[in-house]
Amino acid sequence: VGTLYVVATPIGNLQDLTPRALDVLRSVSLIAAEDTRHSARLLQHFGINTPTTACHDHNERDKSVRLVERLLAGDDLALISDAGTPLISDPGFHLVRQAREAGVRVCPVPGACALIAALSAAGLPSDRFAFEGFLPAKTQGRRQRLQALAGESRTWMVYEAPHRLLECLQDMLEVLGGERQVVLARELTKTFETIKGAPLAELVDWVAGDSDQQRGECVLVVEGAPVRDDAEALDPAVERTLEVLLEELP
Ligand code: SAM
Repeated sequence: VGTLYVVATPIGNLQDLTPRALDVLRSVSLIAAEDTRHSARLLQHFGINTPTTACHDHNERDKSVRLVERLLAGDDLALISDAGTPLISDPGFHLVRQAREAGVRVCPVPGACALIAALSAAGLPSDRFAFEGFLPAKTQGRRQRLQALAGESRTWMVYEAPHRLLECLQDMLEVLGGERQVVLARELTKTFETIKGAPLAELVDWVAGDSDQQRGECVLVVEGAPVRDDAEALDPAVERTLEVLLEELP
C-alpha cells in the first residue's frame, strides 16, 4: 500500500517550499493538485516533472475513489493545493478521509499556512485560538456569524478576500465595537507584506483611506473578548439553578 503525502506549498515566497516537500513531490507517482495549471508554475520552477491530476472542490469525492485505488495498488501520491496547507480552507478533506478509512498511511509534510503565519506575527495571545475560515460573503450572514463570535475569549482568525475586506471590517466595527484590537496580515511572505494592528475604529479608517490595503490576500486576527468573572457572566437563572444544585451536594 502506498502513502498519501499532504504537502504544504508556499503562500507567496517560493523559498518556503521545504527540502522535504521537494523530495516528496519529486518521488511520488502522481500529484493531486487543486488547480494543475496553477501548480505547474511551482513545479516548473523547481524542475519537478511528476505528473499531476486535478482534485478540487467539484470533483474531489469521485476523484478520491480512484486515487485511493492507486494508493491501495501501491503508488505513493502527494496532495497539494494552490497555496499553503491543503485542507485549510482548501480541498483535500474527502481524499484524506477516504484514504484513512481504506487503511492508507496519510503523512503530513508541513510548511506554510497563512493563518499560522499571521498568528505568529500578530502579537495577540496565541496560547489558545480559533480559526473561522471565511466568513459568509453577504453582510447579513456575516454579521450573524460575527455576533456569535463577539463573546469568544480566544484570539480568532478569519480569511478574507481583498474585495470584501473593507465591508468585513465595517461589519466587525458595527458588531464588536471600535476598541477591539484587530491585526490585518496582508500579502504575507510577499514583497508588499503588511502587518498592521490597531483598534477596529482606527483600522477601518486606515484601510478605507488607502486603496492599496484593499488588494492582495489577507488574514484578520481578532483579539478575544475580555473574560468576565463568573458572577458577571452567568445568567441569574443559571446561577440560581447552580446554587440549588450545590446545596444538594454532599
Ligand atoms: N490553504 C491555505 C493556507 O494554508 O493558508 C489557505 C487557502 S484559502 C483558499 C486562501 C486565503 O488564505 C486567502 O483568501 C487569504 O485569506 C489567505 N492567504 C493565503 N495566502 C496569504 C498570504 N500570502 N497573505 C495573507 N493571507 C493569505
